[in-house]
Amino acid sequence: MEPTLYRNARIFTAEPGADRPTADAMLVQDGRIVAVGAEAAIAGRAGTGAPTRTIDLGGRVVVPGFVDAHTHLMMMGEALGKVELTSARTVEEIQRRLAAARGEHPSAERLLGRGWLFDSIPGGAPTAAMLDAAVPDVPVYLDANDLHSCWVNSAALAELGITDETPDPLGGRIVRDADGHATGLLLETAATQTVWPLLESRTTDEDRDAALERAFEAYLAAGVTGAVDMAFGEADLAAVERAIDRHGGRLPIRLAAHWLIDNHGDAEQNSTQLRRAAELAGRDFGGSFRVVGVKFISDGVIDACTAALGAPYTDGSNADPIWPADDLRPAVLEADRLRLQIAIHAIGDAASSNALDALEAAAAGNPSWDRRHRIEHLEYAAEGTAERLAALGLTASMQPVHTDPAVRANWDAMLGADRAARGFAWPEYEAAGALLAFSTDAPTAPHEALANMYVATTRRSALDRSLAAVEPQFALSLGSAIGHATRDAAASVGDGATRGRLAPGYAADFAVLADDPFADGPEALLDTGVAATFVDGREVHTAERAGV
Ligand SMILES: [Zn+2]
Repeated sequence: MEPTLYRNARIFTAEPGADRPTADAMLVQDGRIVAVGAEAAIAGRAGTGAPTRTIDLGGRVVVPGFVDAHTHLMMMGEALGKVELTSARTVEEIQRRLAAARGEHPSAERLLGRGWLFDSIPGGAPTAAMLDAAVPDVPVYLDANDLHSCWVNSAALAELGITDETPDPLGGRIVRDADGHATGLLLETAATQTVWPLLESRTTDEDRDAALERAFEAYLAAGVTGAVDMAFGEADLAAVERAIDRHGGRLPIRLAAHWLIDNHGDAEQNSTQLRRAAELAGRDFGGSFRVVGVKFISDGVIDACTAALGAPYTDGSNADPIWPADDLRPAVLEADRLRLQIAIHAIGDAASSNALDALEAAAAGNPSWDRRHRIEHLEYAAEGTAERLAALGLTASMQPVHTDPAVRANWDAMLGADRAARGFAWPEYEAAGALLAFSTDAPTAPHEALANMYVATTRRSALDRSLAAVEPQFALSLGSAIGHATRDAAASVGDGATRGRLAPGYAADFAVLADDPFADGPEALLDTGVAATFVDGREVHTAERAGV
């Protein structure tokens, strides 16, 4: 293929330590970067064989394609097919959007929505009656922003078989009014063990295929060229294999997956899952998809007081880990022996300490190999965690969007001011020298990479710009934040020498931004868009308003 020279650009290469665009031209051939630098210096590298195609980028900023280092691709695609409610800040607006969606899909058997905020509803108390007023005829299921609660209408309560007599499930609550009637709000397992299985049982392969396509498209439009799925299972695998076939042998983005291991409290059942993951990790799915390892969800989340803390929540409660140390340690040891890359979800400080102990024991107990284990979230970690991570060569996998001020009030209240003040302390990991990989954990937060960079660099809200910053001393520079979301995110799955930077020999995965946040400041991250996205040197997305 003829080489292509991209010129008149402001290229941010994401070399370690890079803090601003440093090159104005880039030469690409056969999907790889041949040279990056000053146009005068690299133009001579072209022109030896085939004629060089030249593309003038009009002075725009170019960054490496973002790698979403922790996401849930299928759920993200499913969420994108639901009515968006995060930006609906009143009950009336929520009702208006639902009625409009119902009007557009009059034959749909049910109506699904996503992302509503407790803040948008008077007293934080949504009711079925509010939804019945907009859509009375079919079941309506609305996921809360944190995916831990579901707000439903009366038809949905009937479809679920929930009556005044239905007892609360273990670990969940059917919210009831003073007269004992279910209000339409289902918390935790009352949502995840009733609504989710019902909707899952109604989901067809065609639905799953459409969801994956929506996710691919949304990522490419956001400048995201790679992703790491953090709770992969059999249904995901089948859908991804169909997508590989549909796309002629390779996915539109590069995908790595961690196989979800459930704790059955039974060593043999846990081991069976690990062996299945090891078998898949050894399988060749073509270059665009790999199973790299496993995922253990060792605790819950702070908002619901289900994350395991060293000292109780402000309400006096605390949570037991989902993977107690005695279950986690042998499973981690075996996964490490099978050379599976281990990711452990640990949000509370007790959980991350447990995770570190288990990973430390595995490193001590097994022969050494090229380990790339990681801890997910680390929202509130014990002091010294960053240093232990760095010493063990572990990746800190963190989500700036999870500290968006719009979702921090309850988080802060549950932890109390002293602990909250050390939440999401990214500079601690930089200072300790741990690999820090950024991601969005979509769909628990918006998947847009630039909005994630806004929160990382300002500690302000990408959802509501009127809110004040939280712990602004932890904000990172733009160059540093983009590096964690490109170079370090790629390195977290072993692609550090091939993707995530714009350097000779690297894949030509990059995004062209419509505006220049380096020159114009962080607000440009929210106002700007991605003008074009390239994967392996092919232009796979072009924005309508700002084509290249
Ligand atoms: Zn996740």
